[in-house]
Amino acid sequence: MINNKKVIEILHNISLKINEQKDYLTMLDNEIGDGDHGINLARGFVEVDKKLESISDKDIGTILKTTGMTLVSTVGGASGPLYGTAFMYAGKQVGDKSEIDINDFKDILKVAIDGVKVRGKAEQGEKTMLDAMIPAYNSMSEEQDAKVALLKGVDAAKKGVEYTKTIIATKGRASYLGERSLGHQDPGATSFTFMLEVIAESL
Ligand code: ADP
Ligand code: MG
Repeated sequence: MINNKKVIEILHNISLKINEQKDYLTMLDNEIGDGDHGINLARGFVEVDKKLESISDKDIGTILKTTGMTLVSTVGGASGPLYGTAFMYAGKQVGDKSEIDINDFKDILKVAIDGVKVRGKAEQGEKTMLDAMIPAYNSMSEEQDAKVALLKGVDAAKKGVEYTKTIIATKGRASYLGERSLGHQDPGATSFTFMLEVIAESL
């Protein structure tokens, strides 16, 4: 089981990880976008991190919703509203629980995917974060052991990132490049994979 304190710790560690990987994510976005993905997301998670102390006693739904709203209001570019919506949907799904298990986490990931789909009007195979999120979810669905499920999820997300190199972007800025987006990995799929890695490492 993961309690609200652990969720706070995970969000703090996600903030550290995204900030560590800021230049790498930005380099990826330089190749097929406008080179701001790392900068955008790192800035947003710094703001999330600042709020964690004041919400550390709240239920998990409130913590995730606050995270989502903070990302929407502080991250420029497409990924702010997309990740923001994902976290807000996740928070709504969890509600006032202060402990969650692996099946709750799968439900959270499911609604986060729905949030990105609705907000981004995107589907799997368009070279976006969904190409890491959806395979991660699918690979976890049958697994009951939390650690094993999350490791499978990370593995599938990484394969999803590799897969984004082989497809043409049809959503977001990278879609302006058409065929020239081939060979490059999607920054958003990469940042999602970092987040899932942090969650897996926390168990
Ligand atoms: P911007 O493209 O506005 O500069 P970012 O660079 O922060 O925004 O984020 C780019 C990432 O957002 C992409 O790598 C992709 O994963 C994701 N993305 C962009 N548009 C969409 C969309 N319509 N649906 C889902 N994900 C998207
Ligand atoms: Mg960008």
